[in-house]
Amino acid sequence: MSAPPAPPMPRTAGSAAEAYRLEGELPMVEQPAVPFVEIETVRAREFIPAAKEAFGALIAEQGQAKLIRPTFNWAGRNSLFPLHWGLACCAIEFASAFSARWDSERFGIVPRSSPRQCDLMIVNGTVTWKVAHKLITLYEQMPEPKWVIAMGNCATGGGPFRTAYSVVPGVDKLVPVDVYIAGCPPRPEAMIDGILRLEELIRERRE
Ligand code: SF4
Repeated sequence: MSAPPAPPMPRTAGSAAEAYRLEGELPMVEQPAVPFVEIETVRAREFIPAAKEAFGALIAEQGQAKLIRPTFNWAGRNSLFPLHWGLACCAIEFASAFSARWDSERFGIVPRSSPRQCDLMIVNGTVTWKVAHKLITLYEQMPEPKWVIAMGNCATGGGPFRTAYSVVPGVDKLVPVDVYIAGCPPRPEAMIDGILRLEELIRERRE
């Protein structure tokens, strides 16, 4: 009489992998698992630069048109800095517009004495050929974007002196003019109205 077969060895937690390997049930169980940190590292190495490149291109394309330029346009048109200078009688009206009665600064209009800090030139008087090159120099010293308002009949077309040999028949012969204000002289309200129209123009041009 032969001896009865030996009972199977109990599988403990520690010997389960060895038992499966011997029986050929799960050959993959012995392969080392890829650590989670390593997966994250590989993904970060490949995904993050690609995402940065894609988002960078998107922001460069969309942000310029939809965020940066409108913001600068809004800020620029609501804080126009005219050059602090005057040519003739219209300059008295220009100065009055910044007095307590009209208070142009409530619109963000602040005259500055350096052309390098200005984006608006208000030509407020008779322009002679003698001063023409100075006017052009001041205009060229202003940073872009910049604007010009011809205030009064003299700046617009020479005014009562348009036939004089010494008078420039309109400042648009020297620099590009965006807004013309009629009058001899225009009152401070007219100057403020001209600046508000320029603000509308800047908003429409989206510069
Ligand atoms: S438009 Fe009239 S007020 Fe103005 S600078 Fe000429 S003359 Fe003087």
